[in-house]
Amino acid sequence: MTEPVLTFTDRGIYCPAGDFFVDPWRPVERALITHGHSDHARGGHGRYLATDVALPVMRHRLGAIRAESVRFGEVRRIGEADVSFHPAGHLPGSAQIRIAVGGEVWVVSGDYKTEPDGLCEPFEPVPCHAFISECTFGLPVFNWRPQPEVMADVNRWWAANAAEGRVSILGAYSLGKAQRILANVDPAIGPILTHGAVEATNRVLRAQGIRLPDTHWAGPDVTGASHPGALVIAPPSALNTPWAARFKGASQAFASGWMALRGVRRRRGLAQGFVLSDHADWNGLNAAIRATGAERIFVTHGYTQVFRRWLADQGYDAGIVETQYEGDDAEQDADVELLE
Ligand SMILES: [Zn+2]
Ligand SMILES: [Zn+2]
Repeated sequence: MTEPVLTFTDRGIYCPAGDFFVDPWRPVERALITHGHSDHARGGHGRYLATDVALPVMRHRLGAIRAESVRFGEVRRIGEADVSFHPAGHLPGSAQIRIAVGGEVWVVSGDYKTEPDGLCEPFEPVPCHAFISECTFGLPVFNWRPQPEVMADVNRWWAANAAEGRVSILGAYSLGKAQRILANVDPAIGPILTHGAVEATNRVLRAQGIRLPDTHWAGPDVTGASHPGALVIAPPSALNTPWAARFKGASQAFASGWMALRGVRRRRGLAQGFVLSDHADWNGLNAAIRATGAERIFVTHGYTQVFRRWLADQGYDAGIVETQYEGDDAEQDADVELLE
């Protein structure tokens, strides 16, 4: 073989045969985007290609961009490469990107999770020769409980607070996690309020036909007195701030894979945390990698050293790709920018 299907450059993952980048972090002429989180979908590219489900949020976040959409599974010829997008199960429209050049198939995972969440298109394994996998939670300590159990905990926490007339503020990334919780929480417990960053995203997703329970934007006039016992969905960056203080006596919690680490919860000054991630856990990563049948694995953002060594011990040809994707924390920083 002359040239690899993908090469790793200082601007991002590059396909020489198609002359395009995947989720580049510096401005390029042609960018294929896995999903709308800010570390993957950046501004300043000449042309964008993403799934039809992912594109509305990208336009909302990036403003006027020159973009085209594809449906899941649709094959596009770009230069000498055949490209298609396949569900990554991370958030609505999120994709793994399959790139085939002369019979050699490589797949870029983007961010993914393997457990169906009742909101986004379920993760689909894509057979390939080389798989570029995120490994945000690539340590054996990260072992998620099934979503129904975690959501039952959330409902119990909310109901107990509501019974005392207290508001429950749940920190969740404004794109993805917030809507996943909305799609799975029990709306019979009480009213659901949203921070502006969450409501703005809800609006975009509803406009494209994604069904979510009724929510009410928590504008300046909305307080714990006006909506006793409400559940408030807010970006994590809004927890323990003046914005949250208007809900006097509220119970505050954060829903994130990082809540599996007790120190993180303590540092954030939270009594309650729910371990709920939009990334695959240790078993999910391993199952996803096995399901591709790939022999070559490249790992990016996360516990890359440990995870690469583990894969090499399992007999894979495993390498690390230096990228500028930042895992869950970048998604949280994006929320800060969207604070009103
Ligand atoms: Zn993401
Ligand atoms: Zn990411």
